[in-house]
Parts: sequence; structure tokens; C-alpha cells
Amino acid sequence: MSCNYADGLSPYENKGILGVPEKFDSIDKFIKKCELLAQFINQAKHVVVHTGAGISTSAGIPDFRGPNGVWTLEREGKRPSINISFADALPTKTHMILKKLVECNKVHYIVSQNIDGLHLKSGLPRKYLSELHGNMFIDECNLCKRQFVRHSPVETVGKKCSGIPCAAEHVTGRPCRGRLYDGVLDWEHSLPENDLLMSEWHSSIADLSICLGTTLQIVPSGNLPIETVKYGGNLVICNLQPTKHDNKADLIINYYVDDILEKVMEILGLDIPTYCENDNPIKRADSTIIDWTIDRRDVVQLEKLFKSKCKGVKKKRNLVKSKRNSSDLILLNGVCDKSKIVKRDIKEENVINEDIKIEPVENTSETL
Ligand SMILES: [Zn+2]
Repeated sequence: MSCNYADGLSPYENKGILGVPEKFDSIDKFIKKCELLAQFINQAKHVVVHTGAGISTSAGIPDFRGPNGVWTLEREGKRPSINISFADALPTKTHMILKKLVECNKVHYIVSQNIDGLHLKSGLPRKYLSELHGNMFIDECNLCKRQFVRHSPVETVGKKCSGIPCAAEHVTGRPCRGRLYDGVLDWEHSLPENDLLMSEWHSSIADLSICLGTTLQIVPSGNLPIETVKYGGNLVICNLQPTKHDNKADLIINYYVDDILEKVMEILGLDIPTYCENDNPIKRADSTIIDWTIDRRDVVQLEKLFKSKCKGVKKKRNLVKSKRNSSDLILLNGVCDKSKIVKRDIKEENVINEDIKIEPVENTSETL
């Protein structure tokens, strides 16, 4: 249960800005912006998507900082009325679309702050996913650090021992004397090293980062899309509430993420797959040992790519970015031109909300 997950965390006072009103673009603006997002995706070479709790609300899992979020209601002494068990929750339209976009080579990596396991259930391969705050359906060995898929959500959070022996021998052929722990982080825990490295390198290499359903308040997860901007790439934010990095975005869409991605798929001419139980590793985990460890070879390969693309070229890419802002290039490039219009438009809209400032949650360099 989502509430149990929140209840299982240690007390923590500074949970960021809570309950900021949601806003919606007009239908005309929504369609125009979806067309722009589709153009951005078509023109980009390396696309990273950053997902937060907002992509799982349509599955029945409450978010944290929305008007009916877990932390927002907690402040009022209430609990979310709509809630589903993690065991029963199914991937949303957004999860299934992201899997499809990865298969079509239009999205190259997904960085998630969510622990609900819905990316896993959608059938998205591990190679394309970083789960920075853990996953209710993944155990980790305390000695060899291998990860395994569970057939049911873990009953504890905060890296507690389940007492189950490590199954590494079935995967590596070498016995391990470790025990399995839940992989869900509490506030004070460090982020999983390889997930964090992969997400940092992909975000740096990317020429387009798309943020879905997150206010980007938690660091370091919320700052990863800014790596794309630093290297000259574009930033698109899709969220109902204002986010910490709205002022750095090339395009902001205030609408439901399911509707945004459905429209983008229509524009791209791609079908939306339905959830298929056979693609869900959790369904096989009671009879088979399923390894969910990031492949070390993928880490080494990506590090080489990161060094070849980003090392020593930061300044050059920054120059490209600043050039893009010149009026000549804006006129030459229809996409940039339109995006600048949208960006200005958004800034004007934000004047109304200028009393609302999103600041990073303090003391969370290694937290949820
Ligand atoms: Zn082990």
C-alpha cells in the first residue's frame, strides 16, 4: 500500500512545497504543445525521460505533493481516500507508451523516482531503467549486491533484512552467503550507485530530457534533467504543478501525462500497447529466479560513451546553446522558434504564480 510505504519511512519534516494548485493548458495550447514535443522527439538523437509519482496516479497510487498527495494530506491530518495495493496496481498508459517509445528507439533511457514497480510490470528491460529510490518488487543482497525480482511487494521499507538467502549461485554459478534486503530507500540512504551513474551519464549525453509527473524538488533526482541543459540539450516539463526548474525549460505542458503522451503517439503515428501479463517479470518470479542487477558491461559501455561525448566538449556545447538563442538561428529553426514562443507564453502565465517558489528539499542529497 502506498500509505504503508509513506508510514514506513522515518519522520522527516522538510518534505518540500506541498499542495500547490494544479493548472491546465487550454485544449488548443495543449495540442500545439504536444505537436512541439513530438517534433522535439523526432529531432533528438538521445532522449531521456524522468518520471515521478504523477505518472502513477491514474493507476490509483496517490502522489506526494499534489493537492491530494500523501504529504499534503498528512499535513492536514488526513490520508488519501483513493488507494490501491502495490500488488494490484497496473502500468498506466504512460508506462506502456514509454516502453513502446524505448522499443522504437525514440526514448533511450528512463530515470524514475518511483518505487511502485510499474515500469518493471510494463516489461521495460533493466538496460533502459534507473530506479533511484528503489522498487517494492526488488530485493538486494547485502554482500554481492545482486538484485532479484519478487513476486509480491516487499513488506518492509528502508533496506531491512528479509532473512532470505541470496540466489546469486543460480545466476553466476558462484555461491553467496549474503541475505536479501528490501531495496526501498529511507530518507538517509545513499542512492544505488550504478542506477545513479547511469542516469547522470545518460542525462549528460541526452539532447532532450522530458520530465513527467514530478515537481523536481528532490535532489539529486530532480537536478538530473539540468545536466541535459548544461550540455546544450532541450528540457521539456510535463506536470500539473509548477516545478523547481520551470525557468530552464524549453517547453512546459500543464496537462495529464497520459493525455499528453497519447496525443504525442497519435502525432508520431505509433500504437499504444496494452499491458500484457506475460511481459511482467513479477508474474514469473514465484517460480523462476529473475536477476534485476544492472549489467556491469552496460555501465562500462556508457561510461566510454559519456567520456567521448561530454569530456572536454562542455564549453563547445554551451556555445551551441547560446548560439541557438540568437535571432538568426531562431528564424532558421522552426522548432526553436515555436518553443521560444511557448516558453515566453509560459513565463507570462507564471507571473500570476510568482509568489509560489519551488525550492529544493534541504538535506536530501542522498534521500528520497
Ligand atoms: Zn549475494
